[in-house]
Amino acid sequence: MKELLLIPGPTPVQEDVLEAMSEPVISHTSPEFANILKETLSFVKELFGAKNGFPFVITGSGTLGMEMALTNIVGENESVLVVSHGYFGDRFEELAKHIGIDVDKIKPVAGEHIDLEIVRQKLKEKHYTALTLTHVDTSTGVLADVESVSKIIQEVSPETLFVVDGVCATGGVREEFDNWKIDVILTGSQKALATPPGLTLLAFSQRAIEKRKSIKPRTYYGDILKWMPVMEDGTKYFATPSVNLFFALHQSLKDIFEMGLENYFKKHEDLARRVRNAFNEVGLTLVAKRPAPTLSVFLYPEGIDDKTFRGKLKEKGVVVANTLAELYGKGFRMGHMGSVTKDELLVAVTKIVETFEELGYKVNKGKVIEAFLS
Ligand code: PMP
Repeated sequence: MKELLLIPGPTPVQEDVLEAMSEPVISHTSPEFANILKETLSFVKELFGAKNGFPFVITGSGTLGMEMALTNIVGENESVLVVSHGYFGDRFEELAKHIGIDVDKIKPVAGEHIDLEIVRQKLKEKHYTALTLTHVDTSTGVLADVESVSKIIQEVSPETLFVVDGVCATGGVREEFDNWKIDVILTGSQKALATPPGLTLLAFSQRAIEKRKSIKPRTYYGDILKWMPVMEDGTKYFATPSVNLFFALHQSLKDIFEMGLENYFKKHEDLARRVRNAFNEVGLTLVAKRPAPTLSVFLYPEGIDDKTFRGKLKEKGVVVANTLAELYGKGFRMGHMGSVTKDELLVAVTKIVETFEELGYKVNKGKVIEAFLS
């Protein structure tokens, strides 16, 4: 039985993308590869709203993107402010500590959005080289208000570089690198971009590139100055890219832009609304007060055991994810991003309801389905 993979990434990959990936391997410095890279990078700029950004696609997961963001712009004895809405925001703190960067973190309780006044206060109190913000934290499902945080940086500390993690957002929700004065944005291939895991996509602003030139980076493979010549001309070599994953990403981005990015955003909003209407009818609580269109994190009703629930659901062919950190065991996370369809989600919602019923939780299935379809 083919599983319906509804964890919040990796997400299901369409046949045409899988086919592109199984094309014969070609030389990573051939004109054919260079053309694919060139077209992919122009899609990347559009995805991020980054006409003025310098785009990169690098072999490695989203965490490499996070690491490239910090190691290229933060020098010796400089500080970073991490604005965290959960487990993946926290990762920036861990990463900064790991590479020896002074870091302060601010974080509201799970599901809440950061109080913007606290961001303002922090930026007034101390000079930070960079501020990191996770657009959608995949642990809580919170959609960060990137634009408002950007305005505060501009008002209080415009020299602070703005780093945005778009791993669970890019493609599923609008991002405006230029307008929001973002300095580094990064994402991964495996979520709303409906491509297998293994690529990180980034854009750097001109001043972030200048900053890199002024410091000694704590990375070799991730040094943007090593990669810029390759991104400008794909026949150049620095390190061998995962050629076939690039085929896959290229195909998936072609599909997305054929549908139109606006329509793709709308599709995500529509699916999120349907899933939430349905589970509201079931009586589940959404963790996020400002929920993202790409995934939902729900708390279980009293008496539902996490492992039993997800185990039974998997037997029915639907895979959802456990909750993380302080929410572990208390709920489940369900992706509704990338190539998933309304019909697939209807199947999933029905099976989830059936699983709840089997576990003794009473649900009016008809009403739930009606809520999903309305
Ligand atoms: N940031 C966010 C918001 C994520 O959801 C994830 C992965 N789930 C990461 C960063 C790390 O990405 P990866 O697992 O691809 O390294």
